[in-house]
Amino acid sequence: METRLKIPKNHPRADSIRIRENLIEGEERSIVAKAGLFAHGRGEAFDYFIGEASMPTALSAARAAASSLLLASHAVISVNGNMAALVPEALVELSMESGAPLEVNLFYRSRKRELAVRDALLAAGATNVLGLGARTATIPELFSERRKVDPDGIYRADVVVVPLEDGDRTEALKRMGKFVITIDLNPLSRTAQSADITIVDNITRAIPNIISAIRELRSCDAESIRSIARGFDNKKNLSEVIIFIRDRLTALAEEERD
Ligand code: ATP
Repeated sequence: METRLKIPKNHPRADSIRIRENLIEGEERSIVAKAGLFAHGRGEAFDYFIGEASMPTALSAARAAASSLLLASHAVISVNGNMAALVPEALVELSMESGAPLEVNLFYRSRKRELAVRDALLAAGATNVLGLGARTATIPELFSERRKVDPDGIYRADVVVVPLEDGDRTEALKRMGKFVITIDLNPLSRTAQSADITIVDNITRAIPNIISAIRELRSCDAESIRSIARGFDNKKNLSEVIIFIRDRLTALAEEERD
């Protein structure tokens, strides 16, 4: 996305600066909550550790996510402010490719923010955005505003994509029997640890990776798609992520010493 600030293309941190600017502008437009800026800072630190590129583990998790979306009866993509500020077009594209509707779901919910997030998605080409109707259902045992869900969306979904999520809600969705796909740069977060598929990657790279995987898998037969979904082991993938980070940091430390 274009930003107000002109960032030289050859700046070594151009992507990272562009992401920050999108979030700052998103906060000014009420799309992003102030707490969303802090959540981004935590993610950004992990992105530095992984080298700001999709790891092989992120590509295989994105492929497993694509398979699960293709196999779902009623998948839904939960959208918060940071997502709407960073990747609105990609979210609309993923929704169209997978057939999973977009549902606005905010921790710091106000009518103004709900509408700002919805409008960002509509401006990016969405035609139907769930989560703003008069009817709401409730996720049991959850006390934040995020417990409110759309009865036609997350409430009856079998597969839910919940990127940049907090652990309480992920665990509550799991207790409701949902299959949870998340995107989280922190492999140690409660969300990353409790989801069924965790893509440890920046959302700006992960969503396009899922879209590419869906397009590639469309030509496969149902049994091959099922075997990709069944063959994915989230705990093993997360452990490989941590080993990747350890090895990368060790190599960098050795370079410093030499
Ligand atoms: P938990 O409750 O699951 O332990 P948390 O307290 O860190 O996690 P939040 O701050 O709500 O919960 O979650 C935000 C998560 O999103 C963080 O783990 C952060 O690393 C991650 N994150 C932030 N920005 C991005 C991004 N652009 N792409 C992917 N992940 C991101």
